[in-house]
Amino acid sequence: MKPSEELRQAAGLAYYEMKKLFRAMKGRPLSGPPLIATTLDADDARHARKLLRERDGWYDPAQVEAFERSFAAWNGSRQALAFMGGRVALSAIISALGLGPGDEAILPGYTCVVVKNAFEFAGVKPVFCDIELETYGLDASRMEEAITPRTRAVLLHHLYGLVCRDYERILHIARNRGLYVIEDCAQSAGATYRNNRIGNLGDAAFFSMELSKVLTTIQGGIAVTGSEELARGLREYRDSLDYPSESEIARILQNIILDFHCYKSRGRWWKADVVDRYLKDRLIVTTTEGEAQGIKPASYARKMPAPLAQLGANQLFKVDSYNQRRRQGAKRWDAWCDDKGYNKPCVIDGSVPVYLRYPVMVEPEKKLDLRWAREELKLQPGVWFLSHFHPAKDILEGCPNADAAVERCINLPTLLD
Ligand SMILES: *Cc1c(COP(=O)(O)O)cnc(C)c1O
Repeated sequence: MKPSEELRQAAGLAYYEMKKLFRAMKGRPLSGPPLIATTLDADDARHARKLLRERDGWYDPAQVEAFERSFAAWNGSRQALAFMGGRVALSAIISALGLGPGDEAILPGYTCVVVKNAFEFAGVKPVFCDIELETYGLDASRMEEAITPRTRAVLLHHLYGLVCRDYERILHIARNRGLYVIEDCAQSAGATYRNNRIGNLGDAAFFSMELSKVLTTIQGGIAVTGSEELARGLREYRDSLDYPSESEIARILQNIILDFHCYKSRGRWWKADVVDRYLKDRLIVTTTEGEAQGIKPASYARKMPAPLAQLGANQLFKVDSYNQRRRQGAKRWDAWCDDKGYNKPCVIDGSVPVYLRYPVMVEPEKKLDLRWAREELKLQPGVWFLSHFHPAKDILEGCPNADAAVERCINLPTLLD
């Protein structure tokens, strides 16, 4: 970069910050509530700083086991194992179930590309089915039609923090047809169904602690199961993996500190811009471009090291109160939907959602151009998902409901203050 250009950039930033300062002085809101890393607070940042200073215990498995036990207890699961991502936890489950080439698994045709990848990396053929539009979950009738003699497993998901509409029907069909059930709980940690936390009715489930999820360590994931045999398989897979390197761990810890400064600290109104302008290359991108195209990254499968387990344990202390706040926040959007004539997301009988985001089907042009929301709602909505295999652009045929969700579903933040 030429010095003159740097100067121009700095002048631009200064002008922008001055404008924001005037807004602040007039008591006007500076930016809407963030969509990511909203549960990283000052205590997490302090903890991350301490961990960066004291590196002795970084590869101590006892810390990780303690976190796994706390997570299992919190979720009411028999066993929990921690990895470097929900996608890795899913790969562990696929391995523990013994799925491989020649097998098929049924998946919702509206998901993250990394879910599809985990099956393909193991040689399993994913077969995609349409979703319903009440909770954006797998449609049980479509799922039943997709079963072939090669089908061995079905993956259902609880999206946006909602418990999926056909939960019981899918479990029932799978049991009758001898299929394994994997639950994708990446967006819904803490949601309950008939007074039990989700993730315990299928054979195994995974949770994510990526930066946009219910609880976060920037990167991380957990697999849970009630079966001792599957737990052995998960442990075997886990024990075969490496830890991330010291520099990777340091980078994640630094990201936790940066996230706190961007979204939670008192100076976030200017710090977020500085990070955005000058420190962007330090921010972690959890799904690389290659991964979105189905290429397995060299550093894909890792197990969770102690610093992230310690931070995860701290997140676990707070997750219930954050989820309670999200439910409160959702009430604002319930009223907004009623006012605008939009359908509210469906809360199935016996379930308590956590509303990681509040999904609404709006007009397609409103999803394409979100400027109306900045005016009307004073915030930036999320766009999960912009394609059938977010964020990949692949086209999926034969799933009209998923098409409609891709075209019209936006999501609103639920941690509003
Ligand atoms: C985030 C997410 C995943 C993947 O979790 P990572 O921790 O990012 O690997 C899987 N499924 C859904 C629905 C997700 O939102």
